[in-house]
Amino acid sequence: MKDDFKHKGMRKKLVDTLIRKGIRDKAVLEAINTVPRHLFMDSGFVSHAYVDKAFPIAADQTISQPYTVARQTELLEVKRGNKILEIGTGSGYQTAVLLEMGAVVYSIERQNELFKKSRLFLSKLGYRPKKLIFGDGYVGYKEEAPYDRIIVTAGAPFVPKDLLAQLGVGGKLVIPVGTDVQVMTVFTRKGPKEFEKKEYGEYRFVPLLEDKN
Ligand code: SAH
Repeated sequence: MKDDFKHKGMRKKLVDTLIRKGIRDKAVLEAINTVPRHLFMDSGFVSHAYVDKAFPIAADQTISQPYTVARQTELLEVKRGNKILEIGTGSGYQTAVLLEMGAVVYSIERQNELFKKSRLFLSKLGYRPKKLIFGDGYVGYKEEAPYDRIIVTAGAPFVPKDLLAQLGVGGKLVIPVGTDVQVMTVFTRKGPKEFEKKEYGEYRFVPLLEDKN
């Protein structure tokens, strides 16, 4: 598991690409400059780790494109110490980015293979999420609610009510909504029953699955 000057140089270039594509949040760019993305991918794909593309991981899933991770994280407006719920741990890359930014992270994954693999891997790298949960992201994780931020990293056919309910007042939910194509949508909780909704363009994610294995 090495991360040498060559990888660091490639990361710097990736960060330059993300700046060119419009990412402005310095903390997000710094986190992407720090997390060794190549280690989150199966060895055969290491040479592709620092191009701005999504790639396959285990269990027919993908590690999201760096631009998508960056943009979603920027829209989340992460502050140090924020309590964040992530839906779709996948490779654990997004989890690591949030941890680098000083967040307290809870992350849910419904595929047991990925849950186990990423739990082991994140701890090997020294990343310490508050809790990794094997379960269904549609229902969130009410044991630890409310959250300051919730990020959904798979395409949701609709906005799960439980996720909105688990957001604290002032909190934000960033979720790609749609079936074939998803619209990046940000909900800000303005009051107990009041939500503001904003949309930020189209993306393509693997689906947020409803049925359990
Ligand atoms: N954040 C991940 C992105 C992985 S892709 C990363 O940085 O690599 C989306 C992930 O969501 C997949 O791992 C998939 O298994 C998971 N997923 C799909 N449906 C889910 C559900 N209902 N609950 C929790 N996770 C789910």
